[in-house]
Amino acid sequence: MPELTSSCLWANTAAPDVKATPLQGAKSVDAVIVGAGFTGCAAALALAQRGARVTVLEAKTVGWGASGRTGGQVIPGLKYDPDEIEAMFGPDLGPRMVAAAGGVGDEVFGLIERQAIACDAQRKGWLQPAYSAKSLELALRRCDSWKRRGANVTPVDRSRMSQLLGTGHYLGGWEDLRAGHVQPMSYVRGLALAAQRSGAVIHPESPALSLTRQGARWRVTTPKGSVDADQVLIATNGYTDGLWPGLSRTVVPMMSYQAATVPIPEALGKSILPAGHAASDTRRLLWYFRRDAHGRLIMGGRAPYREDLGAADDNYVRSAVNRLYPQLGSTPFEFHWAGRVAMTQDHIPHLNRLDEGLWAALGYNGRGVGMATLLGRLLADLASGVAPKDIPFPVTSMHPIVGYPFTRLVARALVGYYRLRDELEAA
Ligand SMILES: Cc1cc2nc3c(=O)[nH]c(=O)nc-3n(C[C@H](O)[C@H](O)[C@H](O)COP(=O)(O)OP(=O)(O)OC[C@H]3O[C@@H](n4cnc5c(N)ncnc54)[C@H](O)[C@@H]3O)c2cc1C
Repeated sequence: MPELTSSCLWANTAAPDVKATPLQGAKSVDAVIVGAGFTGCAAALALAQRGARVTVLEAKTVGWGASGRTGGQVIPGLKYDPDEIEAMFGPDLGPRMVAAAGGVGDEVFGLIERQAIACDAQRKGWLQPAYSAKSLELALRRCDSWKRRGANVTPVDRSRMSQLLGTGHYLGGWEDLRAGHVQPMSYVRGLALAAQRSGAVIHPESPALSLTRQGARWRVTTPKGSVDADQVLIATNGYTDGLWPGLSRTVVPMMSYQAATVPIPEALGKSILPAGHAASDTRRLLWYFRRDAHGRLIMGGRAPYREDLGAADDNYVRSAVNRLYPQLGSTPFEFHWAGRVAMTQDHIPHLNRLDEGLWAALGYNGRGVGMATLLGRLLADLASGVAPKDIPFPVTSMHPIVGYPFTRLVARALVGYYRLRDELEAA
């Protein structure tokens, strides 16, 4: 994995990292959290606020995983429409899940406000523009499904979409005003700092190497220390390793790649996303894009599965920029970076009970800024003794994907196939 700081816009423009040192020696706490991304930091904050003694172990640094690399788009909802979720999960859990997933904008922007996190937060809405007639139908159905539940969403016709995006590439779509965007590295560092202020202790450069039972408690060891705890929360998403056997086989990591232009001069850029929206289109291999606080255009898309993706791999996002905003011509990219998105087979994030006092949340399917913040808090609820039936999300046992190596291969092979289908459908 290339060093995050060298090529990632967010690491280069973020608020300073929290002050913390690697774990040395043995300690005993109420809860230990593995992974310091949105999930782990949100869980640490919520638990520490309730007075629990919390330790966070991070293999690298706060936000080093997907959280410090995302598009920073805060998008309510899951892959499925609210109607579908209610049909899948029934009349009790279904509506509670819809409300929770639809409320992630309030969750994130509420935390940012209460904890005074300086992260260029903008709540100016998210657009889902449709690139084909078929996907426009689905997008409008999704909008209607939310609207019937009172959400602040609106269908957008072709001409308004073209004004809001600054490109006539799309046929229309919908706007979700519950949504917005953040500087994600500043946001995750802000969550970590808030957790520290509430009493949580964060140890970077402290990979959890083993997890074992010690009577009724758990012991997590790192290269230079160990932590005993009643509760363990695993928050490692697409970077999940072999710490708990089988957990990494519940998600399929895929690569997502982004590039950010240099700040675009006002005269050239003023028609591009003029109202400050974030956008991700309806392609199977979606294009997602937004401006940053300095007027750069950030374009993201799926990439081949390689950890060493760099500037030479920008063809896909460059061609998206050329097609949407040809006026940008030779405007250079200043930053390029990539990270792992954790997909699940059922397209729903997983909140797992792995054992007594052992929990995990992972598999956000590319919607983790909001959902990981939410599931981090729900992990804290579970670790504090809230009954799974009172959690507004399914709490399940772990189900490793059957034929995992094959599934991984197929998923990665499908990238080329989906790209072709997107092109054919657009034509
Ligand atoms: C390029 C890209 C763009 C994205 N864009 C968006 C977007 O615009 N909107 C959106 O909602 N979502 C987006 N996502 C998804 C979102 O970023 C993730 O779902 C979210 O960040 C997951 O957060 P997390 O805390 O669960 O995991 P991560 O942030 O990945 O954190 C996991 C951490 O666990 C640590 N770790 C792993 N194993 C161990 C161990 N044994 N011991 C200690 N630590 C360990 C890792 O070092 C890592 O820091 C994007 C993802 C990527 C990669």
